[in-house]
Amino acid sequence: MSDLVMDGVRKVFTTRGRPPVEAVAHFDLEVRSGELVGLLGPSGCGKSTTLRMIAGLEDVTGGDIRVGGRSMLGLRPQRRNIGVAFENYALYPPLSVADNISFGLRARGGLSARALRERVEDLAERIGLRDILDDRPVNLSSGQKQRVALARAIAREPDVLLLDEPLSHLDAAQRDLTRRELRRLQRELGYTTVLVTHDQEEALSLADRVVVMEGGRVRQVGTPDEVYDDPADLFVAEFVGEPAMNLLTGLAGSGPAGQERVVGVRPEDVAVVCDESGGERGGGRGKRGGSGGGVEGDVGGEVVVVEDFCEYGLLTVELAATRQRIVVQTGPGPAQLPGQSV
Ligand code: ADP
Repeated sequence: MSDLVMDGVRKVFTTRGRPPVEAVAHFDLEVRSGELVGLLGPSGCGKSTTLRMIAGLEDVTGGDIRVGGRSMLGLRPQRRNIGVAFENYALYPPLSVADNISFGLRARGGLSARALRERVEDLAERIGLRDILDDRPVNLSSGQKQRVALARAIAREPDVLLLDEPLSHLDAAQRDLTRRELRRLQRELGYTTVLVTHDQEEALSLADRVVVMEGGRVRQVGTPDEVYDDPADLFVAEFVGEPAMNLLTGLAGSGPAGQERVVGVRPEDVAVVCDESGGERGGGRGKRGGSGGGVEGDVGGEVVVVEDFCEYGLLTVELAATRQRIVVQTGPGPAQLPGQSV
């Protein structure tokens, strides 16, 4: 176990006849020993390039990568003691599961056949692969392949473990199970881990801290709660959370000096009540008690779209005062209808 430090890491791809592509602009990060950090961002934001630079599969254009205080620059992948489980598994088809797991260990040498076998069996036991050790990859389910790739990545007891979209090929039920198992294993074995994903649920549920990236830049580093509750900028606010946060633009203060501001409101943080008075209140100002049963902070609006979302309802409500539309999540209870005043 070691810590991983990324110090101003930059990557520019240059292809002859094309303008250079800055895939990673300036990446600073300290992953503590035993911590699981998730790199989260849309396709093309530089996640894989970052992972590949850590693994040594891609040169860095600038900056430094250190594991346990030692610079990795110039070290070939085999010399880095970094385990990688790739999205496409990269298993060797002719080899059994056991031989796939022990491949790297065997290549490194120094262990007797018996010690190798014991190591593989111990891992297989922990990861739930004992019954399929003699099978070939072609006969395995996606979930099993994913676990073999993970077992192979950790067989050499790496200083740092890299997981590339580890759950992306699994169906919803398998994904849930594997996610929990992955978390348990990572905690139990205590690996310093970097996980790459475009799936925010995966990042928010697995990681101790999340790095939100966009266009080769780090937008925010924080715990899942921090990026969810206190996004650093509008990109993070819109990208993190499903359904997305409502962003309402308005003027702070009154009169010509009012400054334009954006207010973010999570769909689940709005309570919807039916407006018995028929929606005459205009909204926006908020009332304390009084007619119509308004409370402080209430705004009037009209339901325009009703949808189902998981076990919830989602309403799109047009605010009476500003004509802005917001999405709100409703709990179980009487359903609202399009056209209703709320
Ligand atoms: P992500 O993993 O977040 O989808 P990538 O790291 O794969 O993003 O890519 C980041 C950017 O770098 C993209 O614009 C991509 O087109 C570019 N890129 C990645 N690999 C190469 C390469 N080998 N040559 C040129 N451009 C590349």
